[in-house]
Amino acid sequence: MNQFQYMRPTKQKAAIDALAKDPNAKIIAGGTNLIDLMKRGVMTPLKLIDINKLPLNKIEHEGNSTRIGALALNGAVAEDKLVLEKQPLLAQALNAGASAQLRNMATVGGNMLQRTRCHYFYDTALPCNKREPGSGCGALEGYNRMHAIFGFSDKCIAVHPSDMSVALVALDATVLVSGPKGDRRIPFAEFHRLPGDTPQQDTNLAQGELVTAVEIPDAAFTKHVHYLKVRERASYAFALVSVAAALSIDNNTIKDARLAMGGVAHKPWRLTEAEKALIGKPATEETFRQAAEVAMRGAKAFKYNAYKLKLAPNSIVQALKTAAAVA
Ligand code: SF4
Repeated sequence: MNQFQYMRPTKQKAAIDALAKDPNAKIIAGGTNLIDLMKRGVMTPLKLIDINKLPLNKIEHEGNSTRIGALALNGAVAEDKLVLEKQPLLAQALNAGASAQLRNMATVGGNMLQRTRCHYFYDTALPCNKREPGSGCGALEGYNRMHAIFGFSDKCIAVHPSDMSVALVALDATVLVSGPKGDRRIPFAEFHRLPGDTPQQDTNLAQGELVTAVEIPDAAFTKHVHYLKVRERASYAFALVSVAAALSIDNNTIKDARLAMGGVAHKPWRLTEAEKALIGKPATEETFRQAAEVAMRGAKAFKYNAYKLKLAPNSIVQALKTAAAVA
C-alpha cells in the first residue's frame, strides 16, 4: 500500500475544504471498499479524510420524507423501525447486500460510492479505462460474464455493484451533497453516470463535494414491494441481475409502479417505460411479462453475458409477481 496522510476532521467544513483543495484526497468512512482498492494498488490516494467524527448518521422523518445521514450504517438502516415502516423496499435491498459484518461497517454514502467489481478493474496488470484512462477495456473482448447489457460504451461495460442504490433510484430518492459552493440536491437517477468516454468518473459529484444524506419521499409503496437478487451463491455475492419492484394496487388494478434493475448497467437502471406499461393494468403475470418486454428494449449482450437477456426479464416478472402477492 502506498503512503498517505490521514486526517479526521470534526467539522464538515474542514472535511470539504481538505477535499476541495487536494485532488489526491479521498473520503473514508467504513472503508469496506476503499481499503481493498488501496491494498491492491487500484486506488492510491495521498490523503484520507476520515469523516466518522461528523454528525451524519441520523435517520429521521421530516415533512413527507425519510432522511438518512451518509454515515448511517447499512445494517442499522435495514433494521430501523422508520425505514421498515416507510421504505421496506430499501430495507430489503440493504439486507440483500454483502454480509452482516460488512453491513455493520459500511455506510450509506459509501454504499452508493462503491466502485465496480469488474475483475479487470481490480487487476492492475490488466488494461482498464476506469482505473487507467486510455489503457483499454479488458472486459470488452474478455471474460465479460458479469457485465452490462444496457448503457455501456466502447470504453467501459462495467456494472454498478450496489443493491441499495437500485432501491433508491426506484424510490425517487435525492442525494444531498455539500461542497465549496454550498449545498445541492441531486436526483438519485442523475447521481451515477453512464461510462461514455470518461468511465473513470462514476458519479456527477464535483471536486470537493461530500455526500451528506439521502432523502426518500413518502409514497404508497409500503406493502407491495420486493427486491429480488439473483446471484451465484446465497449470500455475500454481487448480483448477476437484481430487480427492485414496488406497486400500488387497488382492486387488482396497478395504480402506480416503480421498477429498477441492478447488475445490468454502469448505474442503477430505472425502468420508467416499463413502469408506464404497468400503470392502469390488472396485476397479472401477463401484464408483468409485457412490462418486462418493454424493459428489455435496447438490451445487448457480449460474448459471455447473453444469459442476462433471459435472466433479466424473468427476474422482472418474478419480482413483480412476488410484490403483487405480498398481503
Ligand atoms: Fe475497466 Fe470498465 Fe472495462 Fe471493466 S468494463 S475493464 S471497469 S473499463
